[in-house]
Amino acid sequence: MGANDLPLASRLGRWLHRWGAHPDDHKHPAANTDVAALPLPPRLTLPLAQHIGAPARPEVEVGARVLRGQLLASAQGPISAPIHAPSSGTIAGIVDVPVPHPSGLSGTAILLDTDGLDEAVTMAETDPWTLAPADIARRVAEAGIVGLGGATFPAAVKLSGGQKHKTPTLVLNGGECEPYLSCDDRLMRERPAEVIDGARIILRAIEGRHILIGVEKNKPEAIAALALAAAAFPEVEIVPVPARYPMGSEKQLVSWLTGKEIPAGGLPADIGVVVQNVGTAAAIHRAIRHGEALIRRIVTVSGGAIRTPRNIEVRIGTPLAALIDFCGGTIAPVARWVLGGPMMGLAIDTLDLPIIKGSGGLLALTAAETARPGSAGPCIHCASCASACPIGLMPLEMAAHIRSDDLLGALALGLRDCIGCGTCSYVCPSRIPLVHYFNHAKGELAAQDRAKLRQDAIRQLVDARAARMEQEAREKAEVAARRKAERERAKAEAAAKAAAQAPLSPARPAEETPA
Ligand code: SF4
Ligand code: SF4
Repeated sequence: MGANDLPLASRLGRWLHRWGAHPDDHKHPAANTDVAALPLPPRLTLPLAQHIGAPARPEVEVGARVLRGQLLASAQGPISAPIHAPSSGTIAGIVDVPVPHPSGLSGTAILLDTDGLDEAVTMAETDPWTLAPADIARRVAEAGIVGLGGATFPAAVKLSGGQKHKTPTLVLNGGECEPYLSCDDRLMRERPAEVIDGARIILRAIEGRHILIGVEKNKPEAIAALALAAAAFPEVEIVPVPARYPMGSEKQLVSWLTGKEIPAGGLPADIGVVVQNVGTAAAIHRAIRHGEALIRRIVTVSGGAIRTPRNIEVRIGTPLAALIDFCGGTIAPVARWVLGGPMMGLAIDTLDLPIIKGSGGLLALTAAETARPGSAGPCIHCASCASACPIGLMPLEMAAHIRSDDLLGALALGLRDCIGCGTCSYVCPSRIPLVHYFNHAKGELAAQDRAKLRQDAIRQLVDARAARMEQEAREKAEVAARRKAERERAKAEAAAKAAAQAPLSPARPAEETPA
């Protein structure tokens, strides 16, 4: 069933539920210009952890010459992704460097000094329709493809899960609801055939039946381009969705397109859906058709402080400063640098970081773009936050529990379902930073979970040690008892032997009988 086949009541209901917000989208002028390719930088920095899951394991030595597309680090475990050389050059080091991560901690990265030749490994062309579904998933895993919408979950895991759970529907996410970002918009406009072909390859991998591509209505050129590219494929439906933040979140888009809700704590696969981003689909097209690993992506560089906002295609590992230079530098003081979008992106305080697989945007925001006038005031109980929450939570109540250190109370109200979209804070007329409470509380819970895991591990170690000592004591006691028994048996045998060997005493003469 397509999105437009849903019963009228269901579609009306979705229109009437006014969750979300309409922040000024700031997508222009970057969205108006063609994607430009950034020249190769002299050095690429490739963190081993660019994805959800275990970091990759280096497979190259310092000093080795590598070619574009060559494997540099292999996946470790089922939830992980390999890293490939984005260009040819020499491995200059495997060191700890600052990496883009909310913790602000450093991480291990492979440093690649490029040689300007950009020589590639041999890449084989393949007809995807000759491949079995499992082979497609394996090739996607080998190409190091992760969710390019920012989640960075290894794409192949979803494909294998889709095969296992019999998911008939592929939802392709072209929402791109974060203000400023337009990298997906440009991709859909300029390379719609890649997106559609990638989507059809994914559908084959999950053995699904239909594809719903959700694109916000404020991207009419993208909708038209995709519709043209998909015209020959009846299994593909392009569905314009309202331009409303956070329409691009997985839960919202799936609910909107299919009329089904992903259960709390559940996955799209639970309701027969696999979700991928449009950029991920294009990357899968290139990997399967042309054998290209994930070594490049489109990044939006924007914000009021940037001289020429635009979309750039860059090699993974490119330093952020190179993107800013390519856009003519800054024309105003930067109040906040953000990697990603302004609502859910990562605020950074240095440009000494590389573009990684999940980086869709780099923003230089001015004070006027970041400030909300005035400071937070008291709650006026208007309920705007509850109406706007796309998950249907009660932000005010959750924040009240968190303020009084009652994390359990916040959990009972659905804290774990909060996607941290910040819509509640955005709409609050009293400017109460509600999402900060939730992010803080989720950090506390994560720390508690880690502490509990550590305690459990320590308890297991202590229990195992006690059991081992008990076992050793039991074994020692058994050995001692056995030895004692052996000693006593030997003693008894010796005594018996000695007794047997002792000379017989002369017989006492018979007592004389008196006559
Ligand atoms: S941040 Fe959480 S509580 Fe606030 S609107 Fe988003 S999902 Fe709802
Ligand atoms: S939106 Fe702000 S003022 Fe209104 S109920 Fe929520 S927290 Fe209170």
